[in-house]
Amino acid sequence: MSVDLVVVGGGLAGLVAAARASELGRSVTVLEAGTDERYVCNARFSGGVFHIAFTEIKSSPEVLRAAIDRQTQGQAEAAQAEALAANAGRLVDWLKTHGAQFIRTQVAWQSHILAPPRPIVAGQEWRGRGPDVLLRRLVEKIEARGGKIERGTRAQSLIMENGRCIGVEAVAAGDTGGQVRRFPAHAVLLADGGFQANLELLGKHIAKSPAGVKQRGAATGAGDGLRMALEAGAATSALDRFYGHLLCRDAMTSDKVWPYPELDALATAGILVGPDGRRFVDEGIGGVALANAIARLPDPLSVTVVFDAAIWEGPGRSARIPANPTLATAGGTIHRAPTLVALAASAGLDAAGLSATVAGYNSAVGAQRTASLSIPRSTGRFPALPVATAPFMAIPLCAGITYTMGGVRIDGSTRVLKPDGTPIPGLYAAGSTTGGLEGGEQSSYVGGLTKAGVQGLLAAEHVAAETA
Ligand SMILES: Cc1cc2nc3c(=O)[nH]c(=O)nc-3n(C[C@H](O)[C@H](O)[C@H](O)COP(=O)(O)OP(=O)(O)OC[C@H]3O[C@@H](n4cnc5c(N)ncnc54)[C@H](O)[C@@H]3O)c2cc1C
Repeated sequence: MSVDLVVVGGGLAGLVAAARASELGRSVTVLEAGTDERYVCNARFSGGVFHIAFTEIKSSPEVLRAAIDRQTQGQAEAAQAEALAANAGRLVDWLKTHGAQFIRTQVAWQSHILAPPRPIVAGQEWRGRGPDVLLRRLVEKIEARGGKIERGTRAQSLIMENGRCIGVEAVAAGDTGGQVRRFPAHAVLLADGGFQANLELLGKHIAKSPAGVKQRGAATGAGDGLRMALEAGAATSALDRFYGHLLCRDAMTSDKVWPYPELDALATAGILVGPDGRRFVDEGIGGVALANAIARLPDPLSVTVVFDAAIWEGPGRSARIPANPTLATAGGTIHRAPTLVALAASAGLDAAGLSATVAGYNSAVGAQRTASLSIPRSTGRFPALPVATAPFMAIPLCAGITYTMGGVRIDGSTRVLKPDGTPIPGLYAAGSTTGGLEGGEQSSYVGGLTKAGVQGLLAAEHVAAETA
């Protein structure tokens, strides 16, 4: 039996698309690799904040469009940026009709946070929280309208006929030699969430030592959608950037200290050093770009953030889910010492290198000449603070990858594009499997949930119009 739309992946992009298509009277089947009733995916783990480039999602399309351009230095593909800005406000209204409840904070861009919100603690606290509730409600809506969710079903190849995508072949998840099932369809939506969990692709495009990068999410994005799209002749955007954050290195072995707290606020206030006690990167570029820079090092597990008591009590406390006291409460490694030499001994850093680095850095900060340091420190976004008030502190870091920003190229209606810019008939992509909106030299982040939700809506509506 052919359906109007087969969706690959039941995260936010896939479930929004399936719910919207079924609302418009179209037949849908969602193939989801996860087997559990509440299968894990990045959307379920998320903080549930809907925004665009840290701008209030209900702002006018013009304001949102300008925010995207500002955040991405104008690098976002115009058709996608337009579509995102024009439909973001509509997305949250539509989600409310599908079971979403939102709360807001005092911070303007946090006007739509899925409720009940995540508690301000470290570790895996997603069950029963807003994103988990929303995904379950979307599934209920889809099934109530006759749609199917095929859990434990991993899409592996597209069925193509005369250049048109007419379905998907899938196997039972985890079964490599098993029976192949065919899912014929008028259209297929790839919504499998990126390639961050595919260490081969991660090594090829992003990290020199991919095993040294922490999967800061559900680790379900295996790059299947990207591979299938490429086999069908799709174009991709640059694949070298990811959305992620800095984490305590203990996250490599303990689930108690990730996905929160992120240590970005400490890193952009203090200094990042290698084992030689020397800086190697401009801390002022922001947490997402720093995570990318660390992931590209030959040894991504060699970086320590060094700061002082003033930073710990200042930026360390003021983040949304702050390292102080959240990391300490969760038992994460924090070195403290009355002198830099003692701190270096405790944290395994070269004492002479660290002392020289901090002395040079503090004097540049005092003279407001951080741009002339041998590793310049920009101050446009994050002020450079001295590392001067004992106790001195250090936390070993790792880079956490949440999702890859590059991926399948799409147009403003989410149709997958070929290198010549024409669409592949019948093939759509949405969410973190797509590229062109985020990334670039500054690893610009626009907002993963809004991107996934809007693209899911648009894919469903285009398919519905095509099958009218
Ligand atoms: C801890 C954390 C906090 C976050 N907080 C926020 C936030 O507050 N705001 C925000 O905007 N973004 C946030 N994000 C990012 C956001 O979660 C993602 O951008 C969003 O979930 C992407 O949705 P998606 O549907 O593209 O992918 P996903 O939600 O990852 O879903 C993809 C699905 O596809 C399935 N799949 C993969 N391969 C196959 C296959 N071959 N066949 C069938 N199924 C397959 C997977 O199992 C998965 O269920 C956060 C992410 C994390 C991890």
